[in-house]
Amino acid sequence: MKHFPFRRIAVTLLFLISIPLSAQDYFFKDKAPFDSNIPSPEEFLGYPIGHQHTRHDLIVAYLEKLAELSDRASIEIYGKTHEKRKLVMLTVSTPENLSNLENIKRDHLRFVDPNDNPTNYNDVPIFVQLGYNVHGNEPSSSEAAMLTAYTMVASNSSEVMNYLNNAIIFIDPTINPDGRDRHTQWANQFKANQLVSDGSDAEHNEAWPRGRTNHYWFDLNRDWLLAVHPESQGKLNWYHKWYPNVVTDFHEMGTRSHYFFEPMKPIGSKDPIMPKENYTTLNDIFATYFVEALDDIGSLYYTKESFDGTYPGYGSSYPDLQGALALLFEQASSRGHLQETHYGTISFPFTIRNQYKSSIATVKAAVENKGTLREYQQDFFKSAINVGAPSGYAAYEFGDAYDMNRNRAFVDFLLKHKIDVYKRDNKYVVPLKQPQRRMVQTMFETYRQYSDSVFYDASAWSVANFYNLKYKGLFRFNTSGEPLASIDKSEVVPVPKSSYSYILDWDDYYAPSALYYMQSKGLKVEVAFKPFSVMTTAGLKSFNYGSVLIPVSLQNESPEEVLKIVNEAKAKFNVPIFGTKTGFSNSGIDLGSNNFRAVKKPKVALLIGDGVSSYEAGEVWHLLDTRVHMPVSKIQMRSFRNANLDKYNTLVMVSGSYSQLDSMQVKRLSNWASKGNTLVTIGRASQWAINKKLVKEKLTKKPKSKDSTKVTKRLPYVDASEHLGRERVGGAIFEVDLDITHPLGFGYRSDKLPVYKNNNVFIAPSKNAYATVAKYTDKPHIDGFISEKNLDIFLKPSASLIVSPMGRGRAVLFADNPNFRGAWYGTNRLFINSLFLGSQISIPRPR
Ligand SMILES: [Zn+2]
Repeated sequence: MKHFPFRRIAVTLLFLISIPLSAQDYFFKDKAPFDSNIPSPEEFLGYPIGHQHTRHDLIVAYLEKLAELSDRASIEIYGKTHEKRKLVMLTVSTPENLSNLENIKRDHLRFVDPNDNPTNYNDVPIFVQLGYNVHGNEPSSSEAAMLTAYTMVASNSSEVMNYLNNAIIFIDPTINPDGRDRHTQWANQFKANQLVSDGSDAEHNEAWPRGRTNHYWFDLNRDWLLAVHPESQGKLNWYHKWYPNVVTDFHEMGTRSHYFFEPMKPIGSKDPIMPKENYTTLNDIFATYFVEALDDIGSLYYTKESFDGTYPGYGSSYPDLQGALALLFEQASSRGHLQETHYGTISFPFTIRNQYKSSIATVKAAVENKGTLREYQQDFFKSAINVGAPSGYAAYEFGDAYDMNRNRAFVDFLLKHKIDVYKRDNKYVVPLKQPQRRMVQTMFETYRQYSDSVFYDASAWSVANFYNLKYKGLFRFNTSGEPLASIDKSEVVPVPKSSYSYILDWDDYYAPSALYYMQSKGLKVEVAFKPFSVMTTAGLKSFNYGSVLIPVSLQNESPEEVLKIVNEAKAKFNVPIFGTKTGFSNSGIDLGSNNFRAVKKPKVALLIGDGVSSYEAGEVWHLLDTRVHMPVSKIQMRSFRNANLDKYNTLVMVSGSYSQLDSMQVKRLSNWASKGNTLVTIGRASQWAINKKLVKEKLTKKPKSKDSTKVTKRLPYVDASEHLGRERVGGAIFEVDLDITHPLGFGYRSDKLPVYKNNNVFIAPSKNAYATVAKYTDKPHIDGFISEKNLDIFLKPSASLIVSPMGRGRAVLFADNPNFRGAWYGTNRLFINSLFLGSQISIPRPR
């Protein structure tokens, strides 16, 4: 892959000095003539595209300039990132189309409405959404976005005029601006005048947490489904107004590769949701255009061998579930401006050109197949209501009787995907006969049948299980009444003043957030270790394990001030709090019982940095920061040695290698825990703690084979990666049996709980009878792929969650990831319990 575009252009310039040739001819010479009133990216930025990594604010400024100068373009802000960067969409077409956009949109949306029957497939301009740079450190595509925008806005070639007449082109230059700017800053600061292609140079090796992810280190190319972040929420909101016919998703992969475009590897699961024409017919049509464009510039490429679109939360799969054709592109990364590969060197401009050429080819393919794409989208939505789900169900019903905020969160989530939800007494019902029928299936159906077993990502996404919402299929549903337009936002009624005590119901998802708020305001609280019922200001009420007592007379604050704080917590988190005038219970423990234990405010530190999984660390940070509203100290591994651990009562270690912690540091950690503190480990950190003998627990071992004469069976070399990949637990859902009398199980009403496992960490149940909080059930498999060997030999006999003593303190060991992708409302509660109630867990020892 020898490409030295600028050197070649520089030479050309020497000879053709009298002709005003731009360095940008490398990209789009064939699209001339250009409107000279419109600045090219080079003229606007002051450097040729590919010379620097362009900051997001400059990309936005350039698109704003195009919209300001040209009547072919308009720009809108569809959201803001966590770091308040603008998320923008540039709309490009002919001035006539743009001034008539509302009518064109109305005509377009008739094809999305399954009850309408338009047939003017070729008369309405096709909607193409070019999306770039969801992974911040895959930077070539945003640079290509500027070139594409310039081409569409400024080129007067007959080719481009034809595209504009026949298409509305939506350009989202940077899906992940926060991550992009982290990487942009990195690549530019280490760039030298003499480009350094040595892969060991700092320019090519970003520091932790790197730029791929967003502010909280989440992969936004998984968040289209889970919609946890403002970037995806803004995008979904935009998406469901426009329903484009074609959507692109541009990426970069390892440096040692050639270009990739679809078709991907044939679909891994026998997932019946997607119409097969999407994978076969449409991808094949589009592929011919990419072949032509890349053959033309001599770029090598491959298709069909890798990536799968099975997980529905990618930018290259979600639109497929909305009647569009979504397209994945993967460019080998120059990661920096020039890097050596085993094919020669790869330059930043070279990577940008492939993405640019594919962008233009996408528009061309969309325009030339307008009728086919529209008919496909129309059929897609018509079949949503005309064809039933294979399950035979008419609807799904759910609704937790105890936790209204978890119900609300899930309903809110469904509404973000424009799924119709009906309220029926205390239950919610989601009918399958609706335009979003396939998304309903996605949220509730589970799979066990796989034709292929190596997944690029998770193999399970039944989101109802993420939220621990027990649901059942209904064979009949009457869609009378209107679906919910929004979640119930009725005003929170303040609790009346009590001079005795208040009780916070721990069953609610946001109860810990309210508790933290009250603790931060100085209130002293006690937690019930046994259930009770008591007369409250709202009548006789039963309280479960974990209910939080706020005794008025024990506070330093006046009764008025206590009431104020309690009602602030109630209003802020919409949680159930009750007043009571008596300490005498109708059943169970009285309010003065020793089974109420005083709990201290958690002071939490989280280890981050080299060797630590930035995803899992980000999940903890995001959960505590945005849901619990708790500050958490993020301690870099490199400063661990000097950190004063005594400032914290809880330390969280997520999956990571932790090889930097030598025996001295391990001893320090052990001594700190022994003083009565709580160490919480997740996944591979639990494995590490066991291997380092911080706790006296064991990993589940494979039983030794008695037959020493067993001969290894030969297998074909070519199958090795498929066979070995099968033994990786890529991401699947399992059922555990939870001890709901254990402090970590407080707030749960059912002892059956779905958990998410995406690692091969298998912990043996503790030898102490009271220490295994959650264990996999006899038939644990709920959703997703796991090999029989992993299921039977490793998973079934193992524990999912145990607590192990460390002197006067304890370690809480999670085998699975309770906080996965910010969406596991069902299990992140276990994790939150470990922070609030950890200090009160002592492991009972038989004498
Ligand atoms: Zn990527």
